[in-house]
Amino acid sequence: EAKGGGRNIGKFFEEGMNQGMKRRLLLEQKIRESLVKNRFYLSYQPEFDIATGQMVGVEALLRWRCEELGDVASDEFIPVAESTGLIIPLGEMVWRTAVQQLASWRRTRPDFQLAVNLSPRQFRDTGLISGIARELEHSGVCAEGITFEITEGVLLDDQLNSDRLLQRLRDMGFSVAMDDFGTGYSSLSYLRSHPFDVLKVDKTFIQELESHPRDRELLRAAVDMAHALNLKVVAEGIETSAQLHWLRDMGCDSGQGYLFCRPVSAADIDRLLVAFSGAGRLAEVKNLQTP
Ligand code: C2E
Ligand code: MG
Ligand code: MG
Ligand code: MG
Repeated sequence: EAKGGGRNIGKFFEEGMNQGMKRRLLLEQKIRESLVKNRFYLSYQPEFDIATGQMVGVEALLRWRCEELGDVASDEFIPVAESTGLIIPLGEMVWRTAVQQLASWRRTRPDFQLAVNLSPRQFRDTGLISGIARELEHSGVCAEGITFEITEGVLLDDQLNSDRLLQRLRDMGFSVAMDDFGTGYSSLSYLRSHPFDVLKVDKTFIQELESHPRDRELLRAAVDMAHALNLKVVAEGIETSAQLHWLRDMGCDSGQGYLFCRPVSAADIDRLLVAFSGAGRLAEVKNLQTP
């Protein structure tokens, strides 16, 4: 009797869950399994100096190829990993893999840069700094030229603690970037009151550049302000030469986007490093330079 009742309640509960909840539960279970089975890996998207066309480094981006679900977009699974805490072991894998990979790239390009994303949940992990330090030491690379990208969500959580952590990372020699600028509530005043080295402009902002002259002026003001505060400006999601043109015109320092290169494997970055060594320049930038 009780058993049957429990089953009914279970069934009732399951039917009461909406599709979104079911999907999230499924994703959580599959993320756990995939962590054990090593189904996560990294893609790397090149970042280019906008004035010179040099490939300056890469951003590491987490990818998941689930045996049952196939490729799941990071925009879908990272929020689940975040809310379940699974982003902690995932983030450790990301950092360990990326910094070891950087050690290999720096053997040919000693100034090669790396950007790694950190989510708010990782920022609340008391083992974050020691884990970062341990893998850095293990890799043998120096922290200079490595940037941690964080979103404003980190600051909304606990401003004082976040600022302390940002400063600790900077004291260790890392740079910190405010990611996804232009979305959410982040404003230019954040740049003054928090210790950032890089302003990373979100792709939605970049995509408006061609059609919205007012956004252009807003971004120009943001770039000027960032530079006045000694921050570097990076644009994400550059897809057209018109966007690149505007960003050059504003003095934006570097950028990434499908116009240059999609996120690719580490082996592809190896090949790009060979192709871009010496006088190698990005064709898009070269074209812009020729009148
Ligand atoms: P994000 O850090 O802002 O990363 C940039 C996103 O824009 C990436 O999406 C990248 O593939 C995409 N992108 C780059 N260029 C273009 C372009 O020209 N056009 C378009 N449409 N998209 C472009 P992705 O890889 O899907 O990552 C989404 C977000 O997931 C990231 O946004 C980041 O917030 C998060 N994420 C990715 N990897 C990690 C990770 O290792 N750890 C954490 N905590 N978060 C991560
Ligand atoms: Mg990022
Ligand atoms: Mg971003
Ligand atoms: Mg973004």
